[in-house]
Parts: sequence; C-alpha cells; structure tokens
Amino acid sequence: MTAAGDVLGEARRRRTFAVISHPDAGKSTMTEALALHASAITEAGAVHGKAGRRGVTSDWMELERSRGISITSAALRFDYRGHVFNLVDTPGHADFSEDTYRVLAAVDCAVMLLDAAKGMEPQTLKLFQVCRHRRIPVITFVNKWDRPGREPLELLDQIEEHTGLRPTPITWPIGVAGHFRGVADRLAGKVVLYERAPGGATKALETELTPERAEAELGADWAQASEEIGLLEAIGADHDQKLFEAHETTPVLFGAALPNFGIARLLDVLVDLAPSPAPRAEVSGSARPLEAPFSGLVFKVQANMDPAHRDRIAFVRVCSGRFERGMVLTHGATGRPFATKYAHSVFGQERATIDDAYPGDVVGLVNATALRPGDTLYTGPAAEFPPIPSFAPEHFAVARSRDSGRAKQFRRGIDQLDAEGVIQVLRSDVRGDAAPVLAAVGPMQFEVVQHRLAAEFGTVISLDRLDYTLARRTDAASAETLARQRGCEVFVRGRDQALLAVFTDQWRMRTIAREHPDLTLEPLIADTHADG
Ligand code: GDP
Repeated sequence: MTAAGDVLGEARRRRTFAVISHPDAGKSTMTEALALHASAITEAGAVHGKAGRRGVTSDWMELERSRGISITSAALRFDYRGHVFNLVDTPGHADFSEDTYRVLAAVDCAVMLLDAAKGMEPQTLKLFQVCRHRRIPVITFVNKWDRPGREPLELLDQIEEHTGLRPTPITWPIGVAGHFRGVADRLAGKVVLYERAPGGATKALETELTPERAEAELGADWAQASEEIGLLEAIGADHDQKLFEAHETTPVLFGAALPNFGIARLLDVLVDLAPSPAPRAEVSGSARPLEAPFSGLVFKVQANMDPAHRDRIAFVRVCSGRFERGMVLTHGATGRPFATKYAHSVFGQERATIDDAYPGDVVGLVNATALRPGDTLYTGPAAEFPPIPSFAPEHFAVARSRDSGRAKQFRRGIDQLDAEGVIQVLRSDVRGDAAPVLAAVGPMQFEVVQHRLAAEFGTVISLDRLDYTLARRTDAASAETLARQRGCEVFVRGRDQALLAVFTDQWRMRTIAREHPDLTLEPLIADTHADG
C-alpha cells in the first residue's frame, strides 16, 4: 500500500498542461523544444509524427497528415527539475473542438502560444474560451520573437482585449521583434541574453548580465525595454499567484521556440507558478481528496491508433490515489470491473508501459472497449465527476452505406465512432437504423468518419447534408408537438440517449417556441459561445 503522503508528494510534483494555439504558431516546435530541454527525447521530430518525420502511421493519420491537422491525442511525459510534466496534446483544427474540450478537462493549466506577428488568432481565441469556461489558469508565450512582429505593448493590449485576462509579463523582450537580444526577467530580477547555439544545437546560449552591464552593452534596445518595464510597473502589471490561479491574469513570456529562446524559462515558470493537481469536484458537490483511493477520468478514446494492434485506447487522467498496472478498477458507468493489465504512456507513435501513475498523470488503457469519454474509473468509494459536456452540433448529414451487403460493418463502425465521441450519432424511428443522422460541431468531422469507416470497416458511405443548423435538448412531451412542426426534427442521441430537437435556423425555432410556449428547449454548450 502507498502512504497518503506519497500520493500528495507525487501530486505536488506533477504539472499537467496543454499548449493552445492557432495552427502554425509553433505548437509542434514548442512541444519538441520543451521536451528536448527536459531531455525527454533525443531527436527533434519524434513527437508528432509530422509529414515525413516518421514511417509507420495508422490509416487515418494519413488523413491528418494530408490535411495538416492533428486529431490524435498524445500525452507527452517528461521530467524537469524533479517534477513530472504531462503535456497533453490538443487537436489542431477548430472542427474538433469537442475533442479539445475533453482534453482540456484533463489539464490543470494551459500555455497560450501566440505568433509575435499575428497576435491573437481565431483558433487561439476559441481554445482560450474553453479554458475560460473551465477557469483553467493560462500562461501566455509570445513566440517567434526572432522574426519581425508587433510591438510588445500592443500585444499585451490585444491579449487583454480578447481574453479579458490582465497580462502580467514575467519576461520583457530586449530588442524589437526580429532583433531579439534577450529578456529582462521581471520576476527573477535578471537580464538574460540569448544567442543561437552554433551548429543548430538544441539549446540556445544564455548569458546573464547585471542591469549596469546591460545598459552599457545594449544601448538603445535596453533603454527602450527599461522604459516599457517602467510603464508596466506604473500600471501594476505584476504577477500575482492568486489572481493567476483564479483565471484573472496571465503571466506573459517572450521567446522563440525554434532557436530555443526562452524555453527553459517557460519550463521554470511551469514548475514555479503552474498549479499542481487539485482535488477534483464530484457530482455530489464535494471534491475527491488527492490521497483518496484511485480515481480517473476518461477524457479521450481512440481506436486503431496503431495498425499493428487494431485496438482501442482510453486515455485516463488520474484524479486521485495511485494507479498500479494490474489493478482491477470499477467502471462507474456500468459498475463492472475493469482490468488494467495493459497500461501505456502514449504520444504520437510511441508507447511505453506504465507501471504506476499519480494524480495529474495520463494513462492509456488498452482494450478499453467499454470506456467512453467522460467515464470514471475508481477503486474504493465510488467517484462521480461532472460529465464533460457535449457541444451543440451545427452540421447534420444522413449517413448510408453504399454497399447494402455491408450493413453490419456499417452499424459496427458507426457505433464505434459514436463511442469514441468522434461524432454525435442521432437516430429516430422515422429515419430508421440504416440511415442515422451524423451531427458535427465542424464539418471536418464528417471527413474523419468517412475516412475511418472506409479504412477500418471497409464501408464506403454516402453523406447527404441536411439543412439544420442548431440543436436543443428537449423532452418526450415536447417531442410529440415538435414532430408536427416544419423545419424541425427530433432525435435520440446515441451517446447519452438525450432527446435532441434540431432546427433549420434560429428564426424557425423561435417561431415554434412562441406558438408553443410550454415546449422544453434547453441550449447545449455552443462551440461559438463556449464562454457563455
Ligand atoms: P504548429 O502548426 O503550431 O504545430 O506550428 P509548427 O511548430 O509546425 O511551426 C510552424 C512554422 O513556424 C514552422 O515552419 C516552424 O519552423 C516555424 N517556427 C516555429 N517557432 C518558430 C520561432 O520561434 N521562430 C521562427 N522563426 N520560426 C518558428
């Protein structure tokens, strides 16, 4: 048995976070740089299996590659300064915001990565809104400072305007974007100069200067940085741990992932400021103590990640207690036992067996046929965490198998993708089982379904788009009335058996609601308004 103190000590050493950014801002480069600095991997490029970097990939990773998107969840684990980092990957494309939401349910902190020249971009903002919804503390890293970009003060304004978080710079750049010389570290009270390491080495050269020497050596660049820092002090833009943890401020760092400028500082900031796992709130209203017996949240299920295995992996975030491989857990949704003989850490194509894990860690459980995103596993007293909400679908299409001889495979495939949460599957007596309606937050989800049904189940499907654009949760009594209306249809959602009413547009829905004021029509979490 593990002493409770061990679990608490191990939990305190954990930093579980995600990097959120717009495509091309440098997330892959940053992930590799962080891991390299922490010496987790020896060769840059081993993390994401981006085009050309690695050989074997599963079938739908080809789709990811060809579209330049990353759908596959990866949890990268590495050690740094006596701490254990779990970097959970977020999907790169806006159409997969449901996946993102699930991933962000598993982290304690987020690093918001901005391109110095582009500032806040749409996808960054969308992902940020999910963080806001869950009140996840956010650290901002302004990337690509080695290239021409915006004014640092202008970037701060933009961050505040778009996120509502007050930026509190930890480091301040010396030299405008494109002429990056180093940073003044406001928290550590140091001046650090960066130089590219010769021969493309993975660590930049850093030199520490006293302010006096900085003044003598850096001239006008130093004068400007000092003036701006004076301004920050005047407005009190200083780090405050409580406000940061309360999701009211965001510490900001300036750097460049490619030449490795500021990466070590980011790792230190994660150790020093990012929160370690906290007791997770349960449905009952109380929180499960970290040292309670094991509990974990399934935040992602992925099948057929590896063509050689053709299995299904459930990614579990440890919420309390110690996980030991071989433990028999209880699956909250069914009450059935779940054996954990095969437990892995998984990132990209790499897998390694995990023998034990602590709060904050991510465990990939193989052969997890019964597990679904949002499920709970535990030992000892039952744990029930609030469900991970489904997003409101905005795109709908009827799916049919093109080959009537493969009806069974079609059904199995649809059920599988439904269980994984790849798409929402809606059914009704009117439409019948052979023609389920697929409901998506973003249309690229349809492509994934089509691709995976063909590649993994040998079923070519046709998709006929329906002109519905919004969904509301309803009840059986309302369903009868709604069935008689035009521009509206009622379905049962496979994932949770919820009754959903879908409408062609807002106007239609409002008209029906006005004519039938007793109808139950509850909003679902809308992707576009994830903060409201
Ligand atoms: P992702 O789509 O967010 O994963 O972005 P990548 O990591 O693939 O980076 C996109 C492009 O920006 C690549 O060509 C990178 O080499 C480049 N890049 C990333 N970080 C930096 C940086 O700090 N400085 C410069 N100059 N280029 C960078």
